[in-house]
Amino acid sequence: MQYCRRRNRLLGLNHGQLMLKTQTSSFPTLLRSLGRAAVEFIYPPTCLLCPTGISEEADQHPDFCSGCLNKLTTVIANACLRCGAPVGPFTIASDHCILCKREGFAFDEVIRLNLYRDETRVACLRAKNPSGALLAKTLVNLLVDAQQIRLSQQTFDAIVPVPEHWLKRLVRSQYAAETMARQIATRLKVRLATDILAKARWTPKQAKSSPVQRRQQQQDAFRAVKSSLQGQSILLVDDILTTGATADAAAKALKRAGAKRVVVAVVAVSPPRV
Ligand SMILES: [Zn+2]
Ligand SMILES: [Zn+2]
Repeated sequence: MQYCRRRNRLLGLNHGQLMLKTQTSSFPTLLRSLGRAAVEFIYPPTCLLCPTGISEEADQHPDFCSGCLNKLTTVIANACLRCGAPVGPFTIASDHCILCKREGFAFDEVIRLNLYRDETRVACLRAKNPSGALLAKTLVNLLVDAQQIRLSQQTFDAIVPVPEHWLKRLVRSQYAAETMARQIATRLKVRLATDILAKARWTPKQAKSSPVQRRQQQQDAFRAVKSSLQGQSILLVDDILTTGATADAAAKALKRAGAKRVVVAVVAVSPPRV
């Protein structure tokens, strides 16, 4: 709940709580709620990931304490430019790693903030929650700042979130990939396009699937809605890249429609999966 308390969320959250308490609870409970609201108002906001208090002026990214910020932005010395996974110190990053060579991914490059572990993992999971939009946007700001050079070296025609099936969208008020894509589009001043790629069919949850199952599940799972993306360069956005199967299937659909280049932007990449 820490991240719910940032900035003016105090009013919205506690108003709802207080209304509920007023209808269903006793006077002492209402007093406790009022007291809690007063404490949260007086004390400075806390880190989005832990209870540490932070100052708005303390940092370029005042949404995290310095400990969490350091862990979120730890630089990985040498990583494969194609899939974002760490590679050995003697491997040339522009060469594809073993995984990339084996899989033959349809996307051309992965730009990511960090590996899916520790605070980054916690942040990604929380960003998926209905109340995770602020965290999702903040993570994107970290990503854009950390990867400023690589992002500024290329031009994109559109920012495209990895789409979810329309049935899943019905039950979700916030979809992390789309929130993140919207924020990247704002930061890069590039058109957000939510209408050029669609999920063609329902796919099961992938958390418990093996890499082989994931590839089978995602095969032809996407279709480009617009028939021609001839020569376009697309920045495809998702929150996490695990095996790469989802991004690969989405990139294939975009390239079948004529896209020249598909770069994937994610907050986190799973540690080496070979
Ligand atoms: Zn923290
Ligand atoms: Zn690779």
